[in-house]
Amino acid sequence: MASVKPPKYVRAVLVALQSRGYPSYLVGGCVRDMLLGVFPQSWEICTGAQPEQIGEVFPDACRPGPRRRAVTILIDSHEVDVESFRSAAVSDAEDAEPDMVRFVGDLTADLSSRDFTMNAIALSADGMLSDPFGGVEDIRRQLIRCVGVPEERFEEDPLRMFRALRFSARLGFSIDLFTMEGIRAKAPLAAALPAERVRDELEKLLLTRSPETLHTVIELGLLSAYLSPAPADPALLQKLSRLPRKAQYRWAGLCRVLVSAGAIPSAERFLSALKLDHITIRMAADSCAMLASELPQNDLSKKRWLRRYGVETVRCALCCRDALYGGHERMELRRILKSGECFSLKHLAVSGDDLLALGLQGRAVGEMLDFLLEYVMEYPENNRRELLLSLAAGTEE
Ligand code: ATP
Ligand code: MG
Repeated sequence: MASVKPPKYVRAVLVALQSRGYPSYLVGGCVRDMLLGVFPQSWEICTGAQPEQIGEVFPDACRPGPRRRAVTILIDSHEVDVESFRSAAVSDAEDAEPDMVRFVGDLTADLSSRDFTMNAIALSADGMLSDPFGGVEDIRRQLIRCVGVPEERFEEDPLRMFRALRFSARLGFSIDLFTMEGIRAKAPLAAALPAERVRDELEKLLLTRSPETLHTVIELGLLSAYLSPAPADPALLQKLSRLPRKAQYRWAGLCRVLVSAGAIPSAERFLSALKLDHITIRMAADSCAMLASELPQNDLSKKRWLRRYGVETVRCALCCRDALYGGHERMELRRILKSGECFSLKHLAVSGDDLLALGLQGRAVGEMLDFLLEYVMEYPENNRRELLLSLAAGTEE
Protein backbone atom coordinates (compact mmCIF):
# COMPACT_ATOMS: atom_id res chain seq x y z
CA MET A 1 0.00 0.00 0.00
CA ALA A 2 1.33 3.45 -0.88
CA SER A 3 2.09 5.65 2.08
CA VAL A 4 2.54 9.38 2.79
CA LYS A 5 4.64 10.58 5.73
CA PRO A 6 3.44 13.29 8.11
CA PRO A 7 5.18 16.64 7.66
CA LYS A 8 7.68 17.96 10.22
CA TYR A 9 5.26 20.32 11.95
CA VAL A 10 2.82 17.48 12.65
CA ARG A 11 5.60 15.33 14.08
CA ALA A 12 6.69 18.29 16.20
CA VAL A 13 3.21 18.45 17.84
CA LEU A 14 3.24 14.70 18.49
CA VAL A 15 6.74 14.83 19.98
CA ALA A 16 5.93 17.86 22.18
CA LEU A 17 2.94 16.04 23.70
CA GLN A 18 4.84 12.77 24.06
CA SER A 19 7.76 14.47 25.78
CA ARG A 20 5.34 15.81 28.45
CA GLY A 21 4.26 12.24 29.10
CA TYR A 22 0.97 12.32 27.17
CA PRO A 23 0.51 9.35 24.83
CA SER A 24 -0.34 10.84 21.45
CA TYR A 25 -1.16 9.46 18.01
CA LEU A 26 -2.23 10.55 14.59
CA VAL A 27 -5.72 9.20 14.06
CA GLY A 28 -8.83 9.19 11.87
CA GLY A 29 -9.05 10.48 8.32
CA CYS A 30 -5.41 11.58 8.12
CA VAL A 31 -4.08 8.08 8.84
CA ARG A 32 -6.55 6.58 6.37
CA ASP A 33 -5.51 9.08 3.70
CA MET A 34 -1.79 8.53 4.36
CA LEU A 35 -2.28 4.79 3.92
CA LEU A 36 -4.11 5.49 0.67
CA GLY A 37 -1.14 7.52 -0.53
CA VAL A 38 -3.16 10.74 -0.46
CA PHE A 39 -1.87 13.83 1.34
CA PRO A 40 -4.44 14.54 4.09
CA GLN A 41 -6.49 17.76 4.00
CA SER A 42 -6.22 18.06 7.76
CA TRP A 43 -4.33 16.49 10.66
CA GLU A 44 -5.87 15.06 13.78
CA ILE A 45 -4.05 13.84 16.87
CA CYS A 46 -5.64 12.03 19.79
CA THR A 47 -3.92 12.29 23.13
CA GLY A 48 -4.07 11.32 26.79
CA ALA A 49 -3.90 15.04 27.70
CA GLN A 50 -7.07 16.88 28.75
CA PRO A 51 -7.97 19.95 26.65
CA GLU A 52 -6.50 22.36 29.24
CA GLN A 53 -3.31 20.29 29.41
CA ILE A 54 -3.01 20.43 25.62
CA GLY A 55 -3.28 24.21 25.99
CA GLU A 56 -0.45 24.21 28.52
CA VAL A 57 1.88 22.40 26.11
CA PHE A 58 1.24 25.03 23.40
CA PRO A 59 0.41 28.16 25.45
CA ASP A 60 0.84 30.69 22.66
CA ALA A 61 -0.33 28.65 19.74
CA CYS A 62 -3.73 27.21 20.38
CA ARG A 63 -7.40 27.98 20.07
CA PRO A 64 -10.59 25.97 20.53
CA GLY A 65 -10.79 23.18 17.98
CA PRO A 66 -13.59 21.95 15.70
CA ARG A 67 -15.11 19.85 18.49
CA ARG A 68 -15.60 20.55 22.16
CA ARG A 69 -12.78 18.35 23.35
CA ALA A 70 -10.41 19.42 20.58
CA VAL A 71 -7.78 22.13 20.52
CA THR A 72 -6.33 23.52 17.32
CA ILE A 73 -2.58 24.09 17.41
CA LEU A 74 -1.13 26.70 15.07
CA ILE A 75 2.37 25.74 14.07
CA ASP A 76 4.58 26.94 11.18
CA SER A 77 1.48 28.56 9.61
CA HIS A 78 -0.34 25.23 9.69
CA GLU A 79 -3.11 23.85 11.87
CA VAL A 80 -3.20 20.56 13.71
CA ASP A 81 -6.27 19.43 15.67
CA VAL A 82 -5.46 17.75 18.95
CA GLU A 83 -8.26 15.99 20.79
CA SER A 84 -8.38 14.21 24.14
CA PHE A 85 -8.98 10.49 23.77
CA ARG A 86 -12.63 9.79 23.03
CA SER A 87 -14.32 7.24 25.20
CA ALA A 88 -16.09 4.23 23.77
CA ALA A 89 -19.68 5.42 23.99
CA VAL A 90 -19.11 9.01 22.93
CA SER A 91 -20.19 9.71 19.41
CA ASP A 92 -19.80 12.90 17.45
CA ALA A 93 -23.56 13.40 17.76
CA GLU A 94 -23.16 13.80 21.48
CA ASP A 95 -20.49 16.37 21.07
CA ALA A 96 -23.01 19.17 21.31
CA GLU A 97 -24.30 17.96 24.66
CA PRO A 98 -21.88 18.90 27.43
CA ASP A 99 -23.12 16.29 29.91
CA MET A 100 -22.38 13.48 27.54
CA VAL A 101 -18.80 14.48 26.84
CA ARG A 102 -16.31 12.37 28.69
CA PHE A 103 -12.61 12.95 28.36
CA VAL A 104 -11.39 9.82 30.08
CA GLY A 105 -10.14 7.11 27.81
CA ASP A 106 -7.21 5.50 26.16
CA LEU A 107 -6.25 4.70 22.63
CA THR A 108 -8.32 1.50 22.41
CA ALA A 109 -11.42 3.22 23.78
CA ASP A 110 -10.81 6.09 21.38
CA LEU A 111 -10.48 3.84 18.36
CA SER A 112 -13.55 1.80 19.27
CA SER A 113 -15.62 5.00 19.40
CA ARG A 114 -14.82 5.74 15.75
CA ASP A 115 -17.18 4.95 12.92
CA PHE A 116 -15.42 2.72 10.40
CA THR A 117 -12.40 0.44 10.63
CA MET A 118 -10.51 2.54 8.06
CA ASN A 119 -11.04 5.59 10.31
CA ALA A 120 -10.01 3.72 13.47
CA ILE A 121 -6.28 3.36 12.89
CA ALA A 122 -3.68 5.27 14.92
CA LEU A 123 -0.09 6.08 14.03
CA SER A 124 2.54 6.95 16.64
CA ALA A 125 5.45 9.39 16.19
CA ASP A 126 7.82 6.46 15.71
CA GLY A 127 5.72 5.06 12.89
CA MET A 128 3.88 2.24 14.71
CA LEU A 129 0.32 1.53 13.57
CA SER A 130 -2.41 0.56 16.03
CA ASP A 131 -5.12 -1.16 14.09
CA PRO A 132 -7.33 -3.20 16.44
CA PHE A 133 -10.23 -3.57 13.98
CA GLY A 134 -8.43 -4.56 10.79
CA GLY A 135 -8.69 -1.16 9.14
CA VAL A 136 -5.51 -1.59 7.11
CA GLU A 137 -6.82 -4.80 5.58
CA ASP A 138 -10.18 -3.14 4.87
CA ILE A 139 -8.42 -0.25 3.13
CA ARG A 140 -6.53 -2.81 1.04
CA ARG A 141 -9.84 -4.52 0.22
CA GLN A 142 -11.47 -1.14 -0.37
CA LEU A 143 -14.17 -1.89 2.15
CA ILE A 144 -16.15 0.37 4.49
CA ARG A 145 -16.97 -1.57 7.61
CA CYS A 146 -18.39 -0.44 10.94
CA VAL A 147 -16.34 -0.74 14.08
CA GLY A 148 -18.54 -3.02 16.19
CA VAL A 149 -22.15 -4.01 15.52
CA PRO A 150 -23.51 -1.80 12.72
CA GLU A 151 -27.07 -1.52 14.07
CA GLU A 152 -25.78 -0.37 17.45
CA ARG A 153 -23.34 2.11 15.93
CA PHE A 154 -26.06 3.62 13.74
CA GLU A 155 -28.37 3.86 16.71
CA GLU A 156 -25.68 5.82 18.58
CA ASP A 157 -25.30 8.22 15.69
CA PRO A 158 -27.44 7.82 12.56
CA LEU A 159 -25.20 10.27 10.68
CA ARG A 160 -22.73 7.40 10.28
CA MET A 161 -25.10 5.97 7.65
CA PHE A 162 -24.59 9.07 5.52
CA ARG A 163 -20.87 8.96 6.20
CA ALA A 164 -20.64 5.37 4.96
CA LEU A 165 -22.23 6.35 1.66
CA ARG A 166 -20.23 9.54 1.40
CA PHE A 167 -16.93 7.71 1.87
CA SER A 168 -17.97 5.08 -0.65
CA ALA A 169 -18.67 7.86 -3.18
CA ARG A 170 -15.43 9.64 -2.43
CA LEU A 171 -13.08 6.68 -2.28
CA GLY A 172 -14.90 4.28 -4.61
CA PHE A 173 -14.97 1.69 -1.79
CA SER A 174 -17.77 -0.86 -1.31
CA ILE A 175 -19.81 -1.02 1.85
CA ASP A 176 -19.48 -4.25 3.79
CA LEU A 177 -22.58 -6.45 3.66
CA PHE A 178 -23.39 -6.29 7.39
CA THR A 179 -22.77 -2.55 7.48
CA MET A 180 -25.19 -2.17 4.55
CA GLU A 181 -27.78 -4.34 6.26
CA GLY A 182 -27.38 -2.14 9.33
CA ILE A 183 -28.09 0.93 7.20
CA ARG A 184 -31.20 -0.68 5.73
CA ALA A 185 -32.44 -1.59 9.19
CA LYS A 186 -31.72 1.76 10.83
CA ALA A 187 -32.46 4.16 7.95
CA PRO A 188 -35.64 5.51 9.61
CA LEU A 189 -33.48 6.92 12.43
CA ALA A 190 -31.99 9.40 9.96
CA ALA A 191 -35.21 11.43 10.10
CA ALA A 192 -34.34 12.57 13.64
CA LEU A 193 -30.93 14.02 12.69
CA PRO A 194 -30.47 17.78 12.87
CA ALA A 195 -30.80 19.24 9.38
CA GLU A 196 -27.39 20.93 9.58
CA ARG A 197 -25.58 17.63 10.04
CA VAL A 198 -27.46 16.05 7.11
CA ARG A 199 -26.81 19.12 4.97
CA ASP A 200 -23.05 19.02 5.59
CA GLU A 201 -22.82 15.33 4.72
CA LEU A 202 -24.96 15.72 1.61
CA GLU A 203 -22.84 18.62 0.44
CA LYS A 204 -19.66 16.60 0.83
CA LEU A 205 -21.28 13.75 -1.08
CA LEU A 206 -22.44 16.11 -3.83
CA LEU A 207 -18.87 17.34 -4.25
CA THR A 208 -17.41 13.86 -4.80
CA ARG A 209 -16.81 12.29 -8.17
CA SER A 210 -19.84 10.04 -7.66
CA PRO A 211 -22.85 12.17 -6.71
CA GLU A 212 -25.05 9.40 -8.13
CA THR A 213 -24.55 7.67 -4.78
CA LEU A 214 -27.35 9.99 -3.74
CA HIS A 215 -29.64 7.62 -5.56
CA THR A 216 -28.78 4.94 -2.97
CA VAL A 217 -29.15 7.48 -0.15
CA ILE A 218 -32.66 8.27 -1.39
CA GLU A 219 -33.57 4.66 -2.11
CA LEU A 220 -32.56 3.63 1.39
CA GLY A 221 -34.93 6.24 2.78
CA LEU A 222 -32.22 8.29 4.47
CA LEU A 223 -33.76 11.49 3.11
CA SER A 224 -37.40 10.59 3.73
CA ALA A 225 -37.74 13.65 5.99
CA TYR A 226 -36.90 15.91 3.05
CA LEU A 227 -38.27 14.35 -0.11
CA SER A 228 -40.89 11.97 -1.43
CA PRO A 229 -39.70 8.60 -2.68
CA ALA A 230 -40.12 9.44 -6.40
CA PRO A 231 -36.96 7.93 -7.84
CA ALA A 232 -34.50 10.49 -9.17
CA ASP A 233 -32.88 9.32 -12.41
CA PRO A 234 -29.45 7.91 -11.43
CA ALA A 235 -28.10 8.77 -14.88
CA LEU A 236 -28.97 12.43 -14.30
CA LEU A 237 -27.54 12.35 -10.77
CA GLN A 238 -24.33 10.95 -12.23
CA LYS A 239 -24.13 13.93 -14.57
CA LEU A 240 -23.89 16.28 -11.60
CA SER A 241 -20.22 15.27 -11.48
CA ARG A 242 -19.75 17.27 -14.71
CA LEU A 243 -20.51 20.47 -12.81
CA PRO A 244 -17.66 22.55 -11.40
CA ARG A 245 -16.83 21.54 -7.83
CA LYS A 246 -18.77 24.42 -6.36
CA ALA A 247 -21.30 23.56 -3.70
CA GLN A 248 -23.87 26.09 -4.93
CA TYR A 249 -23.78 24.72 -8.46
CA ARG A 250 -24.16 21.17 -7.26
CA TRP A 251 -27.07 22.02 -4.97
CA ALA A 252 -28.76 23.80 -7.88
CA GLY A 253 -28.19 20.80 -10.17
CA LEU A 254 -29.51 18.42 -7.53
CA CYS A 255 -32.63 20.52 -7.04
CA ARG A 256 -33.28 20.48 -10.76
CA VAL A 257 -33.00 16.68 -10.86
CA LEU A 258 -35.26 16.27 -7.83
CA VAL A 259 -37.86 18.79 -9.00
CA SER A 260 -38.05 17.16 -12.43
CA ALA A 261 -38.45 13.73 -10.80
CA GLY A 262 -41.29 15.09 -8.67
CA ALA A 263 -39.37 14.26 -5.50
CA ILE A 264 -39.44 17.81 -4.10
CA PRO A 265 -41.98 20.59 -4.68
CA SER A 266 -39.34 23.30 -5.10
CA ALA A 267 -35.70 24.15 -4.50
CA GLU A 268 -36.74 26.68 -1.84
CA ARG A 269 -38.68 24.17 0.21
CA PHE A 270 -36.03 21.46 0.01
CA LEU A 271 -33.03 23.66 0.72
CA SER A 272 -34.75 25.68 3.44
CA ALA A 273 -35.63 22.45 5.24
CA LEU A 274 -31.97 21.49 5.01
CA LYS A 275 -30.99 24.90 6.41
CA LEU A 276 -28.92 26.01 3.46
CA ASP A 277 -27.91 29.67 3.41
CA HIS A 278 -30.03 32.25 1.59
CA ILE A 279 -27.59 32.79 -1.25
CA THR A 280 -27.50 29.10 -2.13
CA ILE A 281 -31.28 28.83 -1.89
CA ARG A 282 -31.76 31.86 -4.14
CA MET A 283 -29.25 30.61 -6.68
CA ALA A 284 -30.79 27.14 -6.82
CA ALA A 285 -34.35 28.48 -7.01
CA ASP A 286 -33.48 30.93 -9.81
CA SER A 287 -31.49 28.27 -11.65
CA CYS A 288 -34.46 25.90 -11.45
CA ALA A 289 -36.72 28.65 -12.81
CA MET A 290 -34.35 29.22 -15.73
CA LEU A 291 -33.99 25.51 -16.40
CA ALA A 292 -37.76 25.05 -16.41
CA SER A 293 -38.24 27.79 -19.00
CA GLU A 294 -37.19 27.83 -22.61
CA LEU A 295 -33.59 28.64 -23.34
CA PRO A 296 -33.19 32.21 -24.66
CA GLN A 297 -32.73 32.03 -28.39
CA ASN A 298 -30.90 35.31 -29.00
CA ASP A 299 -28.40 37.58 -27.29
CA LEU A 300 -31.05 40.08 -26.24
CA SER A 301 -33.02 37.50 -24.26
CA LYS A 302 -29.81 36.12 -22.80
CA LYS A 303 -28.87 39.59 -21.62
CA ARG A 304 -32.34 39.90 -20.10
CA TRP A 305 -31.57 36.81 -18.04
CA LEU A 306 -28.26 38.32 -16.99
CA ARG A 307 -30.00 41.48 -15.98
CA ARG A 308 -32.71 39.69 -14.04
CA TYR A 309 -30.71 36.99 -12.29
CA GLY A 310 -27.10 38.23 -12.27
CA VAL A 311 -24.03 36.72 -13.94
CA GLU A 312 -23.18 34.07 -11.34
CA THR A 313 -26.70 32.64 -11.19
CA VAL A 314 -27.04 32.53 -14.98
CA ARG A 315 -23.66 30.83 -15.16
CA CYS A 316 -24.83 28.29 -12.60
CA ALA A 317 -28.06 27.58 -14.50
CA LEU A 318 -26.25 27.23 -17.82
CA CYS A 319 -23.61 24.94 -16.31
CA CYS A 320 -26.47 22.80 -14.98
CA ARG A 321 -28.09 22.75 -18.38
CA ASP A 322 -24.87 21.73 -20.14
CA ALA A 323 -24.07 19.09 -17.50
CA LEU A 324 -27.52 17.53 -17.35
CA TYR A 325 -28.79 17.86 -20.89
CA GLY A 326 -25.72 18.60 -23.03
CA GLY A 327 -24.91 21.76 -24.98
CA HIS A 328 -22.43 24.61 -24.88
CA GLU A 329 -24.41 27.34 -23.22
CA ARG A 330 -21.59 28.19 -20.86
CA MET A 331 -19.38 29.06 -23.83
CA GLU A 332 -22.18 31.19 -25.23
CA LEU A 333 -22.33 33.05 -21.94
CA ARG A 334 -18.58 33.57 -22.01
CA ARG A 335 -18.90 35.06 -25.51
CA ILE A 336 -21.58 37.53 -24.39
CA LEU A 337 -19.63 38.56 -21.30
CA LYS A 338 -16.47 38.99 -23.38
CA SER A 339 -18.31 41.21 -25.85
CA GLY A 340 -18.59 43.78 -23.06
CA GLU A 341 -22.18 44.52 -24.07
CA CYS A 342 -24.20 46.23 -21.39
CA PHE A 343 -26.87 44.33 -19.45
CA SER A 344 -26.85 46.13 -16.12
CA LEU A 345 -27.39 49.66 -14.83
CA LYS A 346 -23.83 49.53 -13.54
CA HIS A 347 -22.52 49.54 -17.10
CA LEU A 348 -25.03 51.91 -18.59
CA ALA A 349 -23.29 55.03 -19.93
CA VAL A 350 -25.64 57.31 -17.92
CA SER A 351 -26.54 57.22 -14.25
CA GLY A 352 -29.47 58.31 -12.10
CA ASP A 353 -27.59 61.52 -11.27
CA ASP A 354 -27.34 62.36 -14.95
CA LEU A 355 -31.09 62.03 -15.28
CA LEU A 356 -31.73 64.12 -12.16
CA ALA A 357 -29.53 66.78 -13.72
CA LEU A 358 -31.77 66.63 -16.77
CA GLY A 359 -34.72 67.46 -14.51
CA LEU A 360 -36.24 64.02 -14.07
CA GLN A 361 -37.62 63.25 -10.64
CA GLY A 362 -38.80 60.38 -8.47
CA ARG A 363 -40.06 57.28 -10.20
CA ALA A 364 -39.41 58.78 -13.61
CA VAL A 365 -35.66 58.36 -13.01
CA GLY A 366 -35.94 54.61 -12.43
CA GLU A 367 -38.34 54.16 -15.32
CA MET A 368 -36.05 56.08 -17.67
CA LEU A 369 -33.02 54.05 -16.58
CA ASP A 370 -34.95 50.86 -17.28
CA PHE A 371 -35.99 52.14 -20.66
CA LEU A 372 -32.42 53.15 -21.58
CA LEU A 373 -31.01 49.84 -20.38
CA GLU A 374 -33.53 47.87 -22.43
CA TYR A 375 -32.61 50.11 -25.39
CA VAL A 376 -28.84 49.53 -25.12
CA MET A 377 -29.36 45.81 -24.60
CA GLU A 378 -31.04 45.82 -27.99
CA TYR A 379 -28.60 48.29 -29.58
CA PRO A 380 -25.31 47.67 -27.74
CA GLU A 381 -23.36 50.07 -29.95
CA ASN A 382 -25.52 52.93 -28.67
CA ASN A 383 -24.39 52.73 -25.06
CA ARG A 384 -22.94 56.24 -25.34
CA ARG A 385 -23.52 58.99 -22.84
CA GLU A 386 -24.39 61.86 -25.18
CA LEU A 387 -26.71 59.77 -27.24
CA LEU A 388 -28.53 58.38 -24.21
CA LEU A 389 -28.82 61.80 -22.61
CA SER A 390 -30.37 63.27 -25.70
CA LEU A 391 -32.65 60.27 -25.95
CA ALA A 392 -33.70 60.77 -22.33
CA ALA A 393 -34.26 64.47 -22.85
CA GLY A 394 -36.15 63.86 -26.09
CA THR A 395 -38.34 61.14 -24.63
CA GLU A 396 -39.27 63.34 -21.72
CA GLU A 397 -40.39 66.23 -23.81
P1 ATP B 1 -12.66 13.88 5.82
O1 ATP B 1 -11.43 13.69 5.00
O2 ATP B 1 -13.89 13.94 5.00
O3 ATP B 1 -12.54 14.99 6.83
P2 ATP B 1 -12.52 12.23 8.11
O4 ATP B 1 -12.49 10.73 8.28
O5 ATP B 1 -11.34 13.00 8.56
O6 ATP B 1 -12.83 12.50 6.60
P3 ATP B 1 -14.03 13.82 9.95
O7 ATP B 1 -15.49 14.16 9.94
O8 ATP B 1 -13.03 14.91 9.82
O9 ATP B 1 -13.85 12.73 8.82
O10 ATP B 1 -13.79 13.02 11.29
C1 ATP B 1 -12.49 12.69 11.75
C2 ATP B 1 -12.53 11.32 12.38
O11 ATP B 1 -13.42 11.32 13.49
C3 ATP B 1 -13.03 10.20 11.47
O12 ATP B 1 -12.00 9.65 10.69
C4 ATP B 1 -13.56 9.21 12.47
O13 ATP B 1 -12.52 8.47 13.04
C5 ATP B 1 -14.14 10.09 13.55
N1 ATP B 1 -15.56 10.42 13.35
C6 ATP B 1 -16.08 11.48 12.71
N2 ATP B 1 -17.40 11.47 12.75
C7 ATP B 1 -17.75 10.38 13.44
C8 ATP B 1 -19.00 9.83 13.85
N3 ATP B 1 -20.13 10.40 13.52
N4 ATP B 1 -18.97 8.70 14.57
C9 ATP B 1 -17.79 8.12 14.91
N5 ATP B 1 -16.59 8.58 14.56
C10 ATP B 1 -16.57 9.70 13.84
MG1 MG C 1 -11.29 15.20 8.61
